[in-house]
Amino acid sequence: MILLSDSPGDLETAARAIRNGLLVAIPTETVYGLGANAWDTRALARVFEAKERPAFDPLIVHVAEPAGASEVADTTVFLARELMERFWPGPLTLVLPKKPEVPDLATSGLDTVAVRCPAHPVARKIISLSGVPVAAPSANPFGRLSPTRASHVADWLGERVDYIVDGGPCSVGVESTVLDLSAEPPLVLRPGGLSLEAIREVAPTVELFDRSTTSPRAPGQLPSHYAPRKPLRLTDSGALPEARPRGRAVAICFGRDSAVAAERSGRFARVVDLSPNGDAVEAAAELFQALHSLDLGDWDELWAERLPELGLGRAVNDRLYKASAK
Ligand code: AMP
Ligand code: MG
Repeated sequence: MILLSDSPGDLETAARAIRNGLLVAIPTETVYGLGANAWDTRALARVFEAKERPAFDPLIVHVAEPAGASEVADTTVFLARELMERFWPGPLTLVLPKKPEVPDLATSGLDTVAVRCPAHPVARKIISLSGVPVAAPSANPFGRLSPTRASHVADWLGERVDYIVDGGPCSVGVESTVLDLSAEPPLVLRPGGLSLEAIREVAPTVELFDRSTTSPRAPGQLPSHYAPRKPLRLTDSGALPEARPRGRAVAICFGRDSAVAAERSGRFARVVDLSPNGDAVEAAAELFQALHSLDLGDWDELWAERLPELGLGRAVNDRLYKASAK
C-alpha cells in the first residue's frame, strides 16, 4: 500500500490507479471510501474481497458533478432533480433506477443504484481526473467502525488496498443519508450526514425507515454494524449515572451536564464528551474517531448515551445502536 498526499501529482496518481482497476482509499466529507472504477467488474470484486463484504450489500457510486449521475441512473424520477440541486455536492445518497450498463456487482443485482456526488474537493478532483464513476463503500472491513482518518484505513485494511490518499479528518464524520427515491413514499434507508429535517424542506413526504416494524431492505440496516471490538452498551439520554458497568469502563457522553453527572457517579474510569455544547453535528464528526481510539485503550466496556432524535442525532444514534448490537 502506498500513502498519497493531496498534492496535484498524487491526485493524478490516485485517479490513474482507479481508472486502471486498482483500489484507492479516498477522503470524502462523510467517511473515507474504498474507491474503484465502477465499470470494472474485477475492481469491484476486489472491493468486496478487501472488505470481506457480502455480495448482497450494494456499493454507492460516486460522481464528480451532479450531472454525472445520469450516466449510471435515471435522474428523471420524482424529486431527484430537486434534491440533487439542493443537496449535491453533499452527504446525500439517492437510490434511483439504474442504467443497464452498471455492473450487477455494484448493485448486488438490484434494479436500482445508489449515487452520490460528494462535497470533498479531493474526492471530486480524483473522480473527475479518473474519468469514470467511482464505486466507493466505506473503507473498513465489513461490519466494523467506519474510517474518518487515513490512519484508520491503514490500520484496518493495510495491504488490501493499493493506495490511500490522506485528506485529513472527515468533516461530517458519519456516512451519507441513503434516500430511496424508487420507493413510494420516498424512504430514508439509513440516517446520515444530511438530516431528515433538511430533506423534508424539499420533499415533505419522505419517511424514515422504521427498524422496529419493518425487516431490513439494505444491509446497512442489519442490526450489527459499525462495531468496535470492545463491548459497547447503550443507555437513554442522561442515564449513564445509573449504568452498572463491569470492570474499567468508559462513558461516552453528549453534553457538559451529562459528562459531569457521569464523572460524579464514580462508575467510570474515563469520561469522554462527544460535544460539550450538545451539538449533534460536532458529535457526529467526533464519533468514529472517539470509538477507534477508545477501542485501542485498556477498557473492559464502552458505555454511550443516546442523543435526542433530532437532526444528526438520528445518524449518531443509528451508529451507536448498531455498534452495540450483538
Ligand atoms: P457503505 O458504502 O459501506 O456506506 O454502504 C452503502 C450502503 O448503501 C449499503 O449498505 C446499502 O445500505 C445502501 N445501498 C447501496 N445501494 C443500494 C440500493 N440499490 N438500494 C438500497 N440501498 C442501497
Ligand atoms: Mg459501510
